[in-house]
Amino acid sequence: MNILVGAAELAPFAKAGGLADVVAALARQWAAMGHRVLVVLPKYRMIDAPEWGFQPIEPAVAVPMGQTVEYARLWLGTLPQSAARVCLLDAPHYFDREGIYGNPEGYPDNDRRYIFLSRALLELAQVLGFSPDILHVHDYHTAVAAELLRRFYRRTPQFYKTASVLTVHNVAFQGITDPARVLPLLGIPWEEFYPGSLWEYYGAVNLLKVGILAADKLSTVSPSYAWEIRHTALGEGLQGVLSVRGADLVGILNGVDYEEWSPERDRYLPVPYSAEFLAGKELNKQRLLTEWAGLPEAEAQAPVPLLGMVTRLTDQKGIDLLLHALEPLVQHLGVRFALLGSGAGHYESFFRYLASRYSRQVFVYIGYNEPLAHRIIAAADFLLMPSRYEPCGLTQMYALRYGTIPIVRAVGGLRDTVRDYDPISGTGWGFCFADYTPEALFGTVQYALSFYGAEPHWERLRRNAMACDFSIRRSAEQYLQLFEWALEKVRAERA
Ligand code: ADP
Repeated sequence: MNILVGAAELAPFAKAGGLADVVAALARQWAAMGHRVLVVLPKYRMIDAPEWGFQPIEPAVAVPMGQTVEYARLWLGTLPQSAARVCLLDAPHYFDREGIYGNPEGYPDNDRRYIFLSRALLELAQVLGFSPDILHVHDYHTAVAAELLRRFYRRTPQFYKTASVLTVHNVAFQGITDPARVLPLLGIPWEEFYPGSLWEYYGAVNLLKVGILAADKLSTVSPSYAWEIRHTALGEGLQGVLSVRGADLVGILNGVDYEEWSPERDRYLPVPYSAEFLAGKELNKQRLLTEWAGLPEAEAQAPVPLLGMVTRLTDQKGIDLLLHALEPLVQHLGVRFALLGSGAGHYESFFRYLASRYSRQVFVYIGYNEPLAHRIIAAADFLLMPSRYEPCGLTQMYALRYGTIPIVRAVGGLRDTVRDYDPISGTGWGFCFADYTPEALFGTVQYALSFYGAEPHWERLRRNAMACDFSIRRSAEQYLQLFEWALEKVRAERA
């Protein structure tokens, strides 16, 4: 199959969260299965294109934006260790800026930046002579391309048979914007903007809604989240629209690229280890505590449980529960806590404060740091994910492979990937709580700690965790099946 992918993030070039990892892992997997994959990504300032081996190509791509045409240079390259091709869209006036989205509020012209990406996606496929079977778009950033395909491009030979699939990684980000700004840019007449129409959403334009209604098939990143966004407030106002498309919406669990995330061959770990050599995990913990946290050797060797977190510091991740529960955990249960994250200022200050107050128990790195992410996930005994909502979550799946026991709120993808440990049967590999309260979090951590070092449970828990298989291969195959259904739908509509 020829698969054209448009996304705002792609690891390792530009990553803010799980979206980058998943888009890259899928592309790599499909390419390895023999499919032709082209991923289009904005050339953000952080991407040193020549350094990654990208070559500029001629001609530039011309992108219709309302009454005018804007141009972007194209750079072609590949994903590292893969045959999947990557095209960088070089439009400095949109993308030569700090960061990806412009944190924390986002750049005021993000609507325009991503409409440009969506339209360029379809134009540059023509420049490159790439005739896709599937147009796979992700989140609001490229969602509108599904409608542009249907409306402007499907009559061209290049896109005659192309089916579109939209994957929603987080329904909370919708690209809600001013119709007076974007309808003219998209070439949509005002007559089409009325309550109940594709383009209208409470007086605004909602780019994600447009994609949801236009794409031939839809997916989201876990079965539980697929249900939650249709039936609960987690749909963030799009429950109705998602329910209309219910028959075309599936939940496909994200997967892990075990080439990147396996303790046996993780280039960032001081000591590689496996389920057969769990002492190696202990050594990683000690090295982290001495080298990074600055504890003396003797103290680092004490059998004190280490809770880890690697996360964006946003309301989604349940950080407000920690505002109440973390200090009691440290004070009364004596745990150590290691956090790597960045995000909202008030959360950052809170963790900095606790790290200074409990300097031998709480260790914090505010910022983004890929090697440290691997080291914390490997070193921790438990990984905490008390999310308010979680479309899928990758970190808990990484943790499992490293024998790090997840303590999670049972929501979305966390519910689908973490099974409670049952000490009677010895099955399960984590600890879940349901209520979104600091008490529930505290109580569950306390219960989980009762298994720390307590054999036979502790070893069984870790072995069960490490035996879980959430490989990206399975996800990639499920997407291919969905692509087949999308193609069938397009064929049937044409007939
Ligand atoms: P989300 O996409 O909602 O942020 P996921 O769990 O799906 O959550 O994915 C998060 C990804 O981002 C993981 O690969 C995690 O390791 C990484 N990550 C998050 N914060 C940081 C950070 N501060 N430094 C390095 N990696 C991070």
